[in-house]
Amino acid sequence: MVTVTKFFNNAKMAFIFRIDDYQLSADDSVDSENRFFRTFIDRINSYGKVKTSIAVITREPHSSTLDPFNENSVEWLRTLITQYGHEAASHTRWHNDIPRTEEDVLGAIDDIEGLYSDISYLVLTYIFPYGHYDDNDLNYMAQRSIPVGCTTTPGLTDIPNDWRLTGITDRITKDVDPSTIIANIDNVYSSGGVYILFTHPTTYEWDNAIQMDTAIAQVLDHVTSLDGVWYTTFGELWSYTMIRNNVQITQESSTRYRVIIDYTQINNGRIWKVPITIEIDVTDLTVFGVNKNGNPLPQGDYENAGAYNSYREFYRLEGNKLYVTIVPTGDDTIEIVTEHFQITSCPSSISVRLGESFTINVTVANNGTIDGTVEIRLKDHNNNLVMARQVIIAAGDSTTVKLTATAPSSPGIYTWKVEAYNVDSGVVDDSKSFTVEVSGVLFGGIDIQQMMQLFLQLLPLIMLILLISILVAAIR
Ligand SMILES: [Zn+2]
Repeated sequence: MVTVTKFFNNAKMAFIFRIDDYQLSADDSVDSENRFFRTFIDRINSYGKVKTSIAVITREPHSSTLDPFNENSVEWLRTLITQYGHEAASHTRWHNDIPRTEEDVLGAIDDIEGLYSDISYLVLTYIFPYGHYDDNDLNYMAQRSIPVGCTTTPGLTDIPNDWRLTGITDRITKDVDPSTIIANIDNVYSSGGVYILFTHPTTYEWDNAIQMDTAIAQVLDHVTSLDGVWYTTFGELWSYTMIRNNVQITQESSTRYRVIIDYTQINNGRIWKVPITIEIDVTDLTVFGVNKNGNPLPQGDYENAGAYNSYREFYRLEGNKLYVTIVPTGDDTIEIVTEHFQITSCPSSISVRLGESFTINVTVANNGTIDGTVEIRLKDHNNNLVMARQVIIAAGDSTTVKLTATAPSSPGIYTWKVEAYNVDSGVVDDSKSFTVEVSGVLFGGIDIQQMMQLFLQLLPLIMLILLISILVAAIR
């Protein structure tokens, strides 16, 4: 049984912080307003995982001119997109009320995509100024395949039915008690829905930046204390939902899945290739790793999918469920690596003489689902590598290797070990220890028993020499 979870990493709730009226114009009056955004975004980024969808006005409000951009504002927004994964949503060029011109609406999308063409940034979200929209707006959106339109209608608590008219859950301003916001967040969290918080980080809704910062921190301190929240944006949530609805996952064996998607068939290809989370029941498997197209995925657990076009891929286990988070590229294979190399035979103890050379046989099996290289290592009581041999073992096969060593030069009982180091994954899959019993008595640095053995071996020769000596003496 395999499914794509409703939210990234099987989160309980998707949380979006929508902030309106960030301005890119070089016009002087813009700077004081954008200063609130600095305080706001600094607070947001301090949590290390919260994202925002930023409504960007690209030119001087209420003008109709193509005045220049403020380079600092442009570069800062670039950092927010590429390093933190915030969304640059369009909020028109001039922030006019309806009816708007095509130039006002689509011109802003051209502006944003032009400024960030080096990272192939795609605008997916159009935030209607004043929350007002008419048929013109919806037509412009259709013309350019802009999938998400945002109103200011409150009360949204789950994935929107009509993305073109996506509302908000709550609005926070200086007149709203943060505790009422927190209570609403808890309700959405317990129902497993989508929570969208909305504000203007400007003088429009706050007396000063400290007042705003205090209220926002109170809310975010609470949200970030909850487990399993997906901090996301409109563009990401929409893309995730579309990929989830269109991806085809087929099971090819007990451990192999194929993930197929054709992005050109979704919204004319205007979509972000974001990670999706695949849930697989692994009741009958021992999972040792997950590969995507032959490359091992890291183990992890995140509440944030990463920044634009540098998204996270990872897997995690929770009870009998395996959650594999990947960015589908078109045709991908996911392979569950069940237990890989196991030492199936190795002596538990060995008796040797002082300084004697000895050999042990070690059998290693590949219990995994792919062929692999294992390095079988022999380590002494000081954890020093005595000998290592690399062998390739096919999936399901096993191999026996001989390892040779020299016994310690003092009598005693030593604990040595054999390791099966998985060269492909870089981890020791299995290790077994055994005792080395070294016998012998030292006399002046020489083992008496060995001397005795040597004497016994040489005895016939000595006897012969003696006999010859006696015979020679008798003849004389
Ligand atoms: Zn606005």
